[in-house]
Amino acid sequence: MRSSQYLLSTLKETPSDAEIISHQLMLRAGMIRKVASGLYTWTPSGLRVLRKVEKVVREEMEAVNALEILMPMVQPADLWQESGRWEDYGPELLRLKDRHQRDFLLGPTHEEIISELVRKEISSYKQLPLTLFQIQTKFRDEIRPRFGVMRAREFVMKDAYSFHLTQESLQQAYDQMYQAYCRIFERLGLDYRPVIADTGSIGGHSSHEFHVLASSGEDAIAFSDQSDYAANVEMAEALAPTTERAAPTMELQRHDVKGDDLAALLQPLSVDAQQAVKCVVAQASDNVEAEYVLLVVRADHELNTIKAEKHPAVASPINLLDNHKLTGVHSVFTGPTQFDGLVIADHSAANLADFACGAGENGVWLTGVNWSRDATLTEVADLRNVVEGDPSPCGQGQIKIARGIEVGHIFQLGKKYSDAMKVGVLSETGKHETLTMGCYGIGVSRIVAAAIEQHHDDRGIQWPDNLAPFQAVLIPMNMHKSARVQETTEKLYAALQDAGIDVLFDDRKERPGVMFTDMELVGIPHQIVIGERNLDEGMVEYQSRKGGDKVKLSIDDVVSHLQ
Ligand code: ATP
Ligand code: MG
Ligand code: MG
Ligand code: MG
Repeated sequence: MRSSQYLLSTLKETPSDAEIISHQLMLRAGMIRKVASGLYTWTPSGLRVLRKVEKVVREEMEAVNALEILMPMVQPADLWQESGRWEDYGPELLRLKDRHQRDFLLGPTHEEIISELVRKEISSYKQLPLTLFQIQTKFRDEIRPRFGVMRAREFVMKDAYSFHLTQESLQQAYDQMYQAYCRIFERLGLDYRPVIADTGSIGGHSSHEFHVLASSGEDAIAFSDQSDYAANVEMAEALAPTTERAAPTMELQRHDVKGDDLAALLQPLSVDAQQAVKCVVAQASDNVEAEYVLLVVRADHELNTIKAEKHPAVASPINLLDNHKLTGVHSVFTGPTQFDGLVIADHSAANLADFACGAGENGVWLTGVNWSRDATLTEVADLRNVVEGDPSPCGQGQIKIARGIEVGHIFQLGKKYSDAMKVGVLSETGKHETLTMGCYGIGVSRIVAAAIEQHHDDRGIQWPDNLAPFQAVLIPMNMHKSARVQETTEKLYAALQDAGIDVLFDDRKERPGVMFTDMELVGIPHQIVIGERNLDEGMVEYQSRKGGDKVKLSIDDVVSHLQ
């Protein structure tokens, strides 16, 4: 590809509404453009990277004998009525009517459609096990789309579904899929961790999430420093060994406060706790006029019930303060010691923000993890004070906390959908058997952003080879003034293309400085610089985007150096 025939679209300035580095760099490198909240156009550079992710995902799915299909994004409501999810799925489900006033929805996931396909196409145990997958656009009307394609409303997912006669067969496919996921994230050059996960609204028994580790991650994961044990914090909490002492319980007192009243309310707390709250308040709001609802949480070992109250002002269907979440918070954040703390809900903005903070024997804590999506920029360091050092549930090592971006999620669904939708076959003995199912998602478009979170420097993106929009770029110095530079670059361009290397030829009439800045921003892993001076010796200059010294290469060695 020649730059002069390409759409590079780089930006010098960092767009002010982009909070995290991957969002900033995707905009600056000209990979995506916003259309509306959570909706993006992928430009040529962005699409090239997206396709690279798809390629690796597709190859690894095919390697475990999953068959590719393509299901419609628009789905009829009647199938969702059959599964029960037309009622159960919250406002993330975008419902719509066609011209005949029939109900439809934009697919956030495809269990119903695949179940409909399989119950019609599969009739005998001989056709099993069967795994089908697609790489396709999903729509979820996220309450707070943000961070660019990281949490979009329309996004690309790989979703696979497997069908089995027995639990053993499902377990086998699940294990294979787990391994395939590990290979995918390894090939994509990502630092990732599989973690034990909750099955959430999709339902089912066993589940793992795959997280790319990054400080901007919206999830917190707990892992052992001495074994492979890792779980998302909800599960770490649920699986934690019970200590001799009864679990602490909490009592909530609600205070609605403004300005000075806040200081008065905080007075009984320790200095550390006050500090923590002030810090939370500062984070929670850009608006000094904001009203805060404070819920004072006290650990009480004498009580054996948890009292949770929802504030009447919290009209949102999100149960910010339901018992489950409180249980999660107190167990995760108190450990075996008593604590005092605060839970703060800021409902001054359209989106509810809530944070928990406090002080205990282990130090100050401050988090909103698993309460809402708004506390994600809270530093891991703050969490460390609290959770780190509970013994690991696996019996080896201590628990540590890291932030993660959920890039994949696999579930053993069991018979949740196949029972509801009557997906079955005739078994070997001629009996009708309901199938058992697995489902396996990967956030294809989210991976692009997650990879940038892990691979960048202050000049731009540093793509791992398997993800880069181009593997190499040819940067000729003042080509328009030097026939020799032009000729050599053309020759190298042809040779690299012949060798199957995805190469960009920066043939723009730009100053070298502009070319370097653009190519570093876009993040092409290998740079070849062609200049008069080196040509005198029959050489060109090689530089890796990851840094390191510039290397002189003889013109004839360029292709082999890049292979
Ligand atoms: P999250 O917890 O981030 O909301 P999820 O658990 O709702 O994700 P799943 O239903 O497990 O998502 O979907 C499979 C994968 O799709 C996720 O692991 C994630 O990588 C991706 N994904 C989910 N929601 C989004 C989104 N809004 N934007 C981009 N990718 C997403
Ligand atoms: Mg979600
Ligand atoms: Mg999730
Ligand atoms: Mg998930």
